[in-house]
Amino acid sequence: AKDLGRDGYAFYTEGMDADVRRRLALQSQLRGAVARGEFSVHYQPQVCLRTGRMTGAEALLRWHNVVLGQVPPGQFIPVAEEYGLINSIGVWVLDTVCQQIRAWQDQGLGDVRVAVNLSGSQFGHADTVPLVEETLARHGVPPSCLGIEITEGCVMGDPDKSVGALRRLKAIGVGISLDDFGTGYSSLAYLKRFPIDVLKIDKSFVDDVAHAASDAAIALSVISLAHNLNMRVVAEGVETPEQARFLASHGCDAMQGYLYSRPLTAADFTSLLRHPRSL
Ligand code: C2E
Ligand code: CA
Ligand code: CA
Ligand code: CA
Repeated sequence: AKDLGRDGYAFYTEGMDADVRRRLALQSQLRGAVARGEFSVHYQPQVCLRTGRMTGAEALLRWHNVVLGQVPPGQFIPVAEEYGLINSIGVWVLDTVCQQIRAWQDQGLGDVRVAVNLSGSQFGHADTVPLVEETLARHGVPPSCLGIEITEGCVMGDPDKSVGALRRLKAIGVGISLDDFGTGYSSLAYLKRFPIDVLKIDKSFVDDVAHAASDAAIALSVISLAHNLNMRVVAEGVETPEQARFLASHGCDAMQGYLYSRPLTAADFTSLLRHPRSL
């Protein structure tokens, strides 16, 4: 067995499941990763499908660790949630994003709207709303520049508490997006109760939207559902002009995906702000 270091998790044997070992290694390296400055935020543009112009960005966390190298968020976020490390990471993300929005303002690049992903345990945390308010105020960022992205799973745990938190965020002007729509335990009743501004069509429905009748039907249903509820629709994972054309012609409001841009470093996103280009 390999020695994992100081933290006392070096007791595993070869018989242990590879996945369990990987999770132990991840959690051991995740502790202290914020303090060691191993995280960064990348920004993926969102583009209006009517004008072709960029309207804002989604903040996506990146982790580079000396031992593990670059680890994708799909791997480390679930581990951070499981071991109670997501809150401190989330505090860092929010602070970094607000600081960046402020820096863009100070450079005369305008009010850039950025949406931050919140995991269920963060969202369930009683201090999340005050934390958001405090962080915005400390950096002097208008709340309308900030959005949060939550998933259905995030809010299902304690729907009553979630409604309260979302209403408070909405009341101060923070935009609320429901992420990965259609992949979770969707309950249409919640859509009515939650003050949601944007529905994001999951990439899994976008992939074959221009070719598979079933995916097209789902995408079109989400678009009309959202519009009937006075919400906007953003399609994620748009990779081809064909997908973008299909979505645009059926009234989808905005898109995000490799077709326009991959998630960019703060420096590269700043260059894009200085030299905007259309879809
Ligand atoms: P998500 O919120 O659904 O984010 C969209 C994912 O799709 C991102 O993966 C993005 O890089 C990827 N993507 C965007 N456009 C395309 C495309 O055209 N093609 C393909 N193949 N992929 C595309 P990423 O960055 O690996 O993030 C994975 C997940 O990790 C996110 O899914 C989100 O749930 C979570 N995550 C990322 N950053 C944070 C964070 O700061 N906090 C929390 N709690 N979760 C985060
Ligand atoms: Ca998201
Ligand atoms: Ca998503
Ligand atoms: Ca997704």
